[in-house]
Amino acid sequence: MKKITGKAYAKINIGLDVLRRREDGYHELKMIMQTVDICDDLQFEKTAEPGIVIQSNHKELPVDGSNLIYKAADLLFREKGITEGVKITLVKRIPIAAGMAGGSSDAAATMRGLNELFRMEYSIRELQELGVKLGADIPYCLVGGTMLSEGIGEILTPLPTPPDCFLVVAKPDIDVSTGFVYGNLHADRLTYHPDIDGMIEALREGSLSGITDRLGNVLETVTVREYPVIEELKELMRSMGAENALMSGSGPTVFGIFRKRETAESAARAIEDKGLAGQIFVTTFYNGITE
Ligand code: ATP
Repeated sequence: MKKITGKAYAKINIGLDVLRRREDGYHELKMIMQTVDICDDLQFEKTAEPGIVIQSNHKELPVDGSNLIYKAADLLFREKGITEGVKITLVKRIPIAAGMAGGSSDAAATMRGLNELFRMEYSIRELQELGVKLGADIPYCLVGGTMLSEGIGEILTPLPTPPDCFLVVAKPDIDVSTGFVYGNLHADRLTYHPDIDGMIEALREGSLSGITDRLGNVLETVTVREYPVIEELKELMRSMGAENALMSGSGPTVFGIFRKRETAESAARAIEDKGLAGQIFVTTFYNGITE
């Protein structure tokens, strides 16, 4: 086998709570992660020349050692002492620096792809243990689906798939750094915590309204103050028929949950007409097998 393809799916957080800031500076989290049907395509090809070469359709994304794809490949090559080379081709669709774990998902897809192409014979658990060194979301991205994520993101518990629905995912044209958001979060002063346990119960009951009633993300306390477009997007989605809307991860992407595709599509058009977001998707949750 010389060549293999893989898909990297984006995630959203339907619930995100920060329990405390640990002494080492990391935040202890309690989140519900959900894969959505927006993905990057990757292709991995063995080369005669040693080294890791990345090609991408995205002009601004660096393809050097700072790319998480490179870091993931380099980590596995070093661990296994692989001296052959690989060319990795990326078709980027997941919005960048958006709170959708695009980079982590590319890294996870790279680990899965190279594990197979070079017959490294790592188990998913072993890949997760290696991957967490590169990013807290990587262990989740290696498996995807609906998961409770605790610790810094490395403690994962599978949850039932939510009921069918439609999503509008909108990324405004602003850059929000994850470091800025966590740096400005006062975990000890939070007066509101989302009802994650209630959300888990709603997932078990298969109740969409139980889920949408409990959407909550404490990181909005930082971003909404700084970037009012996030609240504007949430309000517009709700006024256009969303059951509810929320910012994903550290933002600035906002998603709305809709019962009907047509309603989601007209909300997406309204966002476009008002120029509130540069990247807009109408999509669904994705709970298929992560390739
Ligand atoms: P998270 O939800 O984990 O915070 P995010 O969606 O906010 O992730 P990413 O799209 O993963 O953010 O990218 C964050 C930064 O990582 C960007 O500034 C980008 O330059 C860098 N990066 C490195 N490799 C990649 C990659 N393969 N895809 C996207 N970004 C990458």
